[in-house]
Amino acid sequence: MPDQFDETYKIRPTFQDNPGNLKKQRFVEDEQKRRQSQLADRPSNIAYFESILYNRDFSRKNVPWVGYFCNMIPQEIIRALGAQPIRVDCGNAAAAQVGEEVLSGDICPLAKASFGMFLNDKSLENFCDILVLPASCDAKRKLGQIMNDYKPTFMYNIPPEQNHSLYAHNTFSETNRLVAFLEKKLDAKLSGKELRRQVRLSHQRTLLIRDLQEARIHKPQAISMSDFFIIIQSSLFRPVDLEEWIEQTRQVCKQIQDYSPARKSLRPRIVLTGAPIIWPNYKVINLLEESGADIIADTLCTGAQSLFDPPMTDEWSKQSLIRALSNRYVYAAICPCFISQTTRINRVIDLCETSGATGVANYSLRLCQLFDMENYRLERTLKEKKIPAFTIRTDYSLEDTEQLRVRIEAFLETL
Ligand code: SF4
Repeated sequence: MPDQFDETYKIRPTFQDNPGNLKKQRFVEDEQKRRQSQLADRPSNIAYFESILYNRDFSRKNVPWVGYFCNMIPQEIIRALGAQPIRVDCGNAAAAQVGEEVLSGDICPLAKASFGMFLNDKSLENFCDILVLPASCDAKRKLGQIMNDYKPTFMYNIPPEQNHSLYAHNTFSETNRLVAFLEKKLDAKLSGKELRRQVRLSHQRTLLIRDLQEARIHKPQAISMSDFFIIIQSSLFRPVDLEEWIEQTRQVCKQIQDYSPARKSLRPRIVLTGAPIIWPNYKVINLLEESGADIIADTLCTGAQSLFDPPMTDEWSKQSLIRALSNRYVYAAICPCFISQTTRINRVIDLCETSGATGVANYSLRLCQLFDMENYRLERTLKEKKIPAFTIRTDYSLEDTEQLRVRIEAFLETL
């Protein structure tokens, strides 16, 4: 298989020894950890999930790591090849600052922060052996070739629209191309038996996330959205033993189901939609919850939505599973990089109806043009459906926190 990138102008990776910025990155994380620790009604085993997400000791790595971006790369295939999938999108405001020093221009904070982590040669991201990026937004498309200077990188081409009858064949062959790349770089052969095992584990994770979401809809007081995000993101953004994670999450689910609140919550019930929220940048979740809202569901590619759809198949042969995984990861994705936004709008309306939400909070990440462009139709459609909605437009920095708080409180009062 020929290399994907023309390496004529390949350059040596840039690293920056910047102790001041690393200190800032730790500060941003510590600040969010402090907020989490002050929450009431946390699951009794939340320390398990925190220990994974907060972990910074990666010295005991015993399998290859495959770093991937976005929510369209089948983790089951990576696991079945004996490697650890790690989502390397980053939410650290300080990492965005250091990324910006090298990647100049009006680039979205997520891309800058993710790249910023690679500037530290001892970061978790640099422990990855290979990288996989979907050609989703413009920033990711161009980031691929830059990342290829750091690690062997595969760009996974996704179709421009979620038209299954038009593009299913392309998606399937693209996933087979990914399998061939991974097999070559990991020096491993994908076995049907192991892939079946991983798909079954993935089904269990999906069912648990659905159960947790359902339980939260009825008793949002039982666990905050930020703790729910810690649980979800600990299984995506850090090395994790998925079977152990499933066992621990089952316990959380049981605790929420057994939880009996002293009284019914009268707080406004919000569906959160929009751009990805990634540890430790939980600013928007913090603000909504601290201002008195219960976030009962989300459509984020880093929240419950990211694990909501299981791969569907009646056939369990290796090729059928690869086909099912391509369909699940591409055609169920609620990413604005596809031309029609019907999937996202349908999901928001459906969540509002099924969860009894009183309003929608739409998080628009500054410099992410995809979400900005989607606001036009989303805001008008929700207004037409008489669903109160509010767009929170911000970036990773914490400077506008109090200004946003005032606006969010004003919105919640109208509910
Ligand atoms: S919204 Fe789409 S492009 Fe942005 S991080 Fe999520 S999956 Fe990737």
